[in-house]
Parts: sequence; C-alpha cells; structure tokens
Amino acid sequence: MKIRKGDNVKVISGKDRGKKGVVLRAMPTTGKIVIEGLNMYKKHSRPQKQGEKGQLVDVVRPFSAAKVMLICPSCKEPTRVGSRMEGTRKARYCKKCKSII
Ligand SMILES: [Zn+2]
Repeated sequence: MKIRKGDNVKVISGKDRGKKGVVLRAMPTTGKIVIEGLNMYKKHSRPQKQGEKGQLVDVVRPFSAAKVMLICPSCKEPTRVGSRMEGTRKARYCKKCKSII
C-alpha cells in the first residue's frame, strides 16, 4: 500500500469521486484508509434506554486505498507513486516530477 497517514489524496471512484482530503488512518493489513470528512454515511441508532430517541449519526467508512490517488506535495498533481531504493531504505517518489515524497 502506497498511501500513508497524513497524505493528501484525491478520490477517483465512488460517491465522493473528485473530492480531496487528508488521510486520517491507514490500515495496510486490509488495504483501507480513512479520509477526513469523506465517505460519510448516516447511521440510524436505536434508542438505548427508555425515553431516549433514535438518532441519525454520521459515520466515516474506510475507503479502499486503490480508489484514491496521492497528491504530490511538490508538483500538487494527483499522481501514481513509485518506490525506489534511496541508499539503504525504500523511498516513495512521484511518477510525474520524480521527487521523493
Ligand atoms: Zn510530483
């Protein structure tokens, strides 16, 4: 998975297509990410106690990381991410401007 927490991403499919956001959580084991304010759904909660009302709660659902593109911090374009060895460690780089991100 190429997306990390704190990345700026653009959604390329689904109901929030075209929107941008910041990754709040990355879950590499499931390949999913959570983006701030995107992929919101209304959830109906039932009354837990007597006298309480059921209500609508906004919940953020995780996205598949394959549905977003990373926005490169140096060229500000949505881009694909490559990885290459930089000395002894792996570095991510922008496929458009080749700068390390
Ligand atoms: Zn770039």
